[in-house]
Amino acid sequence: MDDTDVEIRPSHHASVGAFDVRRALPQRGRRTVGPWCFADHMGPADVTEEHGLDIGPHPHTGLHTVTWLIDGEALHRDSLGSEQVITPGQLNLMTAGHGVSHAEEATGRYSGRLEGIQLWLAQPEATRNGDAAFAHVADPPRVDIGEGVATVFLGSLAGVASPARVEVDLVGAELDVRGAARMALRHDFEHAIVVLEGALEVRGATLTPGSLGVLPSIDELEVRSRERTRAILIGGAPLGETLFMWWNFVARSRDEVTAMRESWQRGDDRFGRVASALARIDAPAPYWS
Ligand code: MN
Repeated sequence: MDDTDVEIRPSHHASVGAFDVRRALPQRGRRTVGPWCFADHMGPADVTEEHGLDIGPHPHTGLHTVTWLIDGEALHRDSLGSEQVITPGQLNLMTAGHGVSHAEEATGRYSGRLEGIQLWLAQPEATRNGDAAFAHVADPPRVDIGEGVATVFLGSLAGVASPARVEVDLVGAELDVRGAARMALRHDFEHAIVVLEGALEVRGATLTPGSLGVLPSIDELEVRSRERTRAILIGGAPLGETLFMWWNFVARSRDEVTAMRESWQRGDDRFGRVASALARIDAPAPYWS
């Protein structure tokens, strides 16, 4: 056992569309890190021009989806009419609010490796029933952190801030580390690290792909790698609300989710339509029905 105050929690395996994922959040005993409530490390896997993530139209509520790739390309389509190819180093941010639906597709032009992470961010009570939205940030800010670079795709870190707007203070950043790096952290935030590639030494622990490393409250983070390492740092103030999450819905109660599920199954206007050739994904039966 490492002598460390970093809480290392193994991810669990799941399938999403055509991909195997390592789900770092949520976990039993660790549902959220700040407002972050879901983290799927997708791939690496090989895709073709015609077959990629292949996740057909499905609904969301009460959350932002944050998509970040370290390899390959994917195409996002949603019920707002957005159609956006994402490549490594770019952010796709979809706000679900009261309801939205989307699909993740092959691009029709890219074949090769695909790897990335999809995160969900719970919306606070004040905005979770608001309008849906989509934003793409082609060139989020990068900041030197020593022998490495942080790309701040959401919130702020080390003096730089993402132009993408969310309602609460937080951080979402990729750390690309080739040696020793350090950065200031907010002591009042919860923070965790998901390594996508390589190995990151943090406070006596070695984090590798397939785990969530939850940090203690600290003012400064020092990390070290012996090989090129890419990791995602997430953080934010404790949520202060109890979520009820089921399937693709973030809500506050079982009754809310029952109504969301019925809207999706009925195909009413709540979740709109996605112009996708992929098959729409039916909601499973809830365990309480
Ligand atoms: Mn989705």
